[in-house]
Amino acid sequence: MARAAHVREAAAAARTARHEFGLGLDQPVHDLLAVVEETAGLPVGVLALSDGVAGVYIERRERAFVFVNGNQALARQRFTLAHELGHHRLAHGAVVDGVDAVEGRSTDPREQQANAFAGEFLAPEQALREWMEARGEPLLTVEVLVRIAAWFAISAPAAYVRLIESEVLQRASQKRDLKRALDRGQHKGLEQSLGVRAVEDQLAQIQRENALPRLPALLRENALAAYAAGLIDLDRLAQIVARDRDTVGQAMSAMGIEPAQAEPDW
Ligand SMILES: [Zn+2]
Repeated sequence: MARAAHVREAAAAARTARHEFGLGLDQPVHDLLAVVEETAGLPVGVLALSDGVAGVYIERRERAFVFVNGNQALARQRFTLAHELGHHRLAHGAVVDGVDAVEGRSTDPREQQANAFAGEFLAPEQALREWMEARGEPLLTVEVLVRIAAWFAISAPAAYVRLIESEVLQRASQKRDLKRALDRGQHKGLEQSLGVRAVEDQLAQIQRENALPRLPALLRENALAAYAAGLIDLDRLAQIVARDRDTVGQAMSAMGIEPAQAEPDW
């Protein structure tokens, strides 16, 4: 089935972004957070957002920010981050993305575009084809799917979608068998038994060190602004400036700085 024009256009935008960022089309993204924040210039926060929220793309005072739900699985966080980069590059405007949107269940063309962007950005069709060629075009079993997913730091279900989108996986019976295996959860825990190494990027490090909230670099340099914007609480501010909470609280009151609100407004 041919992909719709708006989706093809989004995949092309992902290839353009990759070229612009010096990533080419033949390799995985080694540290997505660094690429988005430093190369693309889009500040990224990794926060404990509500359960149903995968990510947020906002524009405040002519500056864009991305927030990713750091409580979700790493492969999901990466896909969400690439999805938000898609909203940014495709000039879609502010959006709060529920889990449905990044799982491809939204019929909104902008969500479909952001997902197509994310898929091609994280696992370009060219890189997928080269991966298969380099390994002698292996039969697409669940094990192979898990290896592809690990290579591109995406989930096995996302790898399945990418193989179909790239027309690497075309046979109906093979699609059906793989889908059934994924639905049964046969991919889960396979990384370990296959000895597949997980990608060690900044998002993985944040999760391992339990370092939420991870503020955008832009705000980290100005913890006061982050506090005033309600993005961090007094405890976190005290931690960042390495002073005790009471001292910092008194200083804030003396300067008339109160957090905008206790919770971000999403
Ligand atoms: Zn979205």
